[in-house]
Amino acid sequence: MTTTDIAIIGAGPAGAVAAALLCKSGHRVTILEQSHFPRFSIGESLLPQCMEFIEQAGMLDAVTAANFQFKNGAAFARNGQSGSFDFSQKFTRGHSNTFQVERARFDHIIAECAEQAGADIRYGHKITDVSFTESGSSELAISSDQGAAYSLKAKFLLDASGFGRVLPRLLDLETPSDFPSRKSIFTHIKDNISDESYDRNKILIVIHPEYKDVWYWLIPFNNGRCSIGVVAKEEFFNASSLSEDELLKSAISASPDLCSLLQKAEYDTPVRMIKGYSCNVKSLWGKGYALLGNAGEFLDPVFSSGVTIAMKSATLAAPLVSKTLANQTVDWESQYALPLKIGVDTFRSYVSAWYEGSLQNIIFSKNHQPKTREMVCSILAGYAWDTENPFVEKPDRRLKALAQICRA
Ligand code: FAD
Repeated sequence: MTTTDIAIIGAGPAGAVAAALLCKSGHRVTILEQSHFPRFSIGESLLPQCMEFIEQAGMLDAVTAANFQFKNGAAFARNGQSGSFDFSQKFTRGHSNTFQVERARFDHIIAECAEQAGADIRYGHKITDVSFTESGSSELAISSDQGAAYSLKAKFLLDASGFGRVLPRLLDLETPSDFPSRKSIFTHIKDNISDESYDRNKILIVIHPEYKDVWYWLIPFNNGRCSIGVVAKEEFFNASSLSEDELLKSAISASPDLCSLLQKAEYDTPVRMIKGYSCNVKSLWGKGYALLGNAGEFLDPVFSSGVTIAMKSATLAAPLVSKTLANQTVDWESQYALPLKIGVDTFRSYVSAWYEGSLQNIIFSKNHQPKTREMVCSILAGYAWDTENPFVEKPDRRLKALAQICRA
């Protein structure tokens, strides 16, 4: 049995940022990470808003020095139409640029920053069970991939286990997502794109020519390679007997926009698949613990909001953990869950409007007032917590009204 102040499950973006912030505040932090880094993770296009959280955690120099692909906006394509947002033209002040990152390397770099800040990261150590005392301290059952099994006592527990969803499963916190079960098939390619109009500084989101709820991402890296993926409801793929590799190529061949860009692409990496990833919980906290990032709610990949939400949750939770350990009163609902939900709910409205089609019409419309466009752009850049932006304050109402204007 060993002890720590704060145990964190998972060394992804949420866990690493929370650990660095808590170490800076003088706490003993232990991260239990079941994998060995660098390890593959999906979620490669960052949003400018998350640069603020990276900076707060003292990781900006290391991330900047890594020479990742620069990103300054988002581009969209649908049946020959195009729409593009430049993040410098956004309503909210703050970083306008960010990076597109191979997550294996990015997560490794930020985990190393957390270690340099003082976190003890135990790679290859998996949490298998957790129990809580009445005072809220926890006892974690851990098994290492070297065959060791041991317990760790913590004064506070942060679950940053992503799709591992350790506490939601163990404490029966799972609740259905607002979104249907979707599936994504993806890989990395040598893109060989020679089209001079293609902007490597932007993520490209392409909509299927026939089905508005089927879309692709093309995320360029800085080494002539891209991440390419397709997202659809599970039934869309299940109707076919093709292998996943064939399904991805067949989906790409259905899009003239992508076919033309990727005509010389080399498919040199095995295809991966993830499905049923949209998830939610009954509560983001309980006595002695809080859920960060994907261990809480995950909406959808379409606006690349996952890492930003994960890091936002870490920056909101870290000071509250410090206060809790100092025996100060903390109302986790009003100080953590509700503030986090502001941005999550903004993205929720965007995701709903995307699949319903109205946001796609807004994106391709030429009918925008410049100020309104800046407000929409701010959300695409991740500034979903800026309540001065009317599209954050009343996202559903504003999007509906804008969709009407764009239809006119
Ligand atoms: P993770 O990054 O998943 O980290 C969790 C860590 O916990 C992992 O390292 C895991 O090994 C560890 N762990 C799990 N269980 C245990 C256990 N029992 N014991 C110990 N360790 C454990 N987001 C973006 O920002 N941009 C994108 O472009 C984007 N694209 C996406 C595309 C798809 C198809 C999907 C499904 C998601 C995408 N996301 C994207 C979302 C993004 O992947 C996640 O939101 C983000 O990685 C969440 O970070 P996290 O720290 O919460 O969890």
